[in-house]
Amino acid sequence: MSFKAPRGTRDILPSEIEKWQYVEGVLRKLCREYGYSEIRTPLFEETGLFARGVGEGTDIVEKEMYTFKDRAERSLTLRPECTASVVRSFLEHKLFNEPQPQKFYYIGPMFRYDRPQAGRYRQFHQFGVEAFGTSSPVLDTEVIAMSNDFFQRIGLDDLNLEINSVGCKFCRPAYNQLVLDYYKNKLEKLCTDCHIRYERNPLRILDCKNEKCLSLVQDAPSLADNLCEECATHFSSVLSFLDSLNIRYSVNHRLVRGLDYYTKTAFEFVSAELGAQSSLGGGGRYDNLVEICGGPPTPGVGVAMGLERVILALDKRGFDPSLYRDKRVFVALAGDDKLQHEGLLITQELRRAGISAELDFMGRSLKSQMKFAGKNNFSLVIILGEKELKEKAVLLRDMQNGEQEEIKRSKLIDKIKEKLKRQGKTTEEA
Ligand code: AMP
Repeated sequence: MSFKAPRGTRDILPSEIEKWQYVEGVLRKLCREYGYSEIRTPLFEETGLFARGVGEGTDIVEKEMYTFKDRAERSLTLRPECTASVVRSFLEHKLFNEPQPQKFYYIGPMFRYDRPQAGRYRQFHQFGVEAFGTSSPVLDTEVIAMSNDFFQRIGLDDLNLEINSVGCKFCRPAYNQLVLDYYKNKLEKLCTDCHIRYERNPLRILDCKNEKCLSLVQDAPSLADNLCEECATHFSSVLSFLDSLNIRYSVNHRLVRGLDYYTKTAFEFVSAELGAQSSLGGGGRYDNLVEICGGPPTPGVGVAMGLERVILALDKRGFDPSLYRDKRVFVALAGDDKLQHEGLLITQELRRAGISAELDFMGRSLKSQMKFAGKNNFSLVIILGEKELKEKAVLLRDMQNGEQEEIKRSKLIDKIKEKLKRQGKTTEEA
């Protein structure tokens, strides 16, 4: 019998993991700089949380959830996204009593019964942030700026940031009605999904990508013309803060996003290179969500990015993670097995000093050990032979410039630290 990973899921093999760890490393560092703390919530929650939090009429809740009964007949759901879980946790632990804003981030798998294709999976990974406790447009801007910084840092610097305001509970109902009125006599021209959206969530018709629906959307009423004063002011403040940070964006009044909970700001980072699955990440403000989930009125704003898509976009650029690898030391042995003892001692000493180091186990010739070290991008090679052993020394070869010198064993660690520092980054900083 041969088993395969379930449809829509995939293994991340060691040959790929370096890219993931690089991306996650950049994200964690960014979160430290912006003052967001990690939160880890369960992979499954009570089904009702998502029905309430994500919204009954959404594609996610209607069609995409992995819902099951446990042995005690409780209805549970593998999380399709993490915002509802973070809100649940925020409420359960009464974090609204702590000094505000409370700022969180998460990295982990999400599960949606989506139609699998390149960039779309049934188990995929999201990085996201959620910040609670202030309706200041500066916080919207911070979340967008942080996402923008991330994409810049990893070299995805030509994404398009689309932004819109989707209004609030005061101005949206009237706008919803305008949309219903507009499409009332055009229903037969809409796709079948939009027939359902018309009944349940008319705003979503506006961002349907179906050709039939796209041709009608041009003349649909614009939410921009129907925002209440507070939403309009909030939106223009966010845009002016983005301007002052020199963050480029395009206002897209058709952007509504697939989740019901957004209010005011909604945004998306779109790649021109990824075809149908072009959205790398998106988010927005959700000022009613905490209340909807049973808590005190608490404004919030967040973003979620799809890490598979980020990595696909990096692959398209020919990204080479080995360039970002920890600077490492390879210990090569030039002689017989007697040298293994000393080689092992040196390797352990380096590791204890925080320097990533590997030893040759294969009994290869010095030439093929050097080839191996070059191919695997080691920064430095320590060469230990009979002569060096006798003289309590080693040869240290700098793989970047080919320089080689003899170093006394007692000076070895300091010398290596100094060399790694000169090469760019130390192991501790990486
Ligand atoms: P959402 O939670 O729907 O706002 O999605 C946020 C981001 O998650 C999207 O921009 C995608 O990058 C990613 N994403 C959503 N669904 C999937 C999926 N089925 N497979 C891979 N990535 C996804």
